[in-house]
Amino acid sequence: MNSSLRDTLEQSIRAIPDYPSKGIIFRDITTMLGDPRAFRRSVDELVHPYSGSQVKKVAGIEARGFILGGAMAHQLSCGFVPIRKKGKLPHKTVSIAYSLEYGVDEMEMHEDAIEPGDKVLLVDDLIATGGTACAAVELLQRLKADVVAACFVIDLPELGGRKKIEALGVPVRTLIEFEGH
Ligand code: AMP
Repeated sequence: MNSSLRDTLEQSIRAIPDYPSKGIIFRDITTMLGDPRAFRRSVDELVHPYSGSQVKKVAGIEARGFILGGAMAHQLSCGFVPIRKKGKLPHKTVSIAYSLEYGVDEMEMHEDAIEPGDKVLLVDDLIATGGTACAAVELLQRLKADVVAACFVIDLPELGGRKKIEALGVPVRTLIEFEGH
């Protein structure tokens, strides 16, 4: 990896130990978003391989994926699609249940947000176990999207999420890896 990108991200992403529960190191990207150079650099790097590849939509996972995804869609001159927690979208939706550490949750998209065959880039801030992103990929694939890649600023490789997404036939792009949970 380009070392100055690594330095920029290491310096701008804040680590908060034992949040939201003991043993978790929360990787807080709000400090990166608040740093003009780091924010621009991250968005530029995330979209870089896909400029000129006819991406039709960037799909962002609520909520931090909205911030990154909106900027990426602007950069790629394509549309943005929100993937939201259940009950937030006003029109007809498709939904999928997915497992969390404790219990299950559900995410939704508008059923007309994607046309069959649309090239779509999925984005969130961080990949941990991959449960959230895999559910989002399955939702997009159900609408017959061509999911070109799933993009994240941060990968926590010990949790194995990347492999689960790749097993769905979707390449994964991440900008920095951190140890631990
Ligand atoms: P997972 O489904 O396990 O891959 O979890 C990914 C989702 O949970 C993403 O939306 C992340 O924003 C959030 N998340 C999980 N672990 C962390 C962490 N250590 N720091 C910040 N966000 C996290």
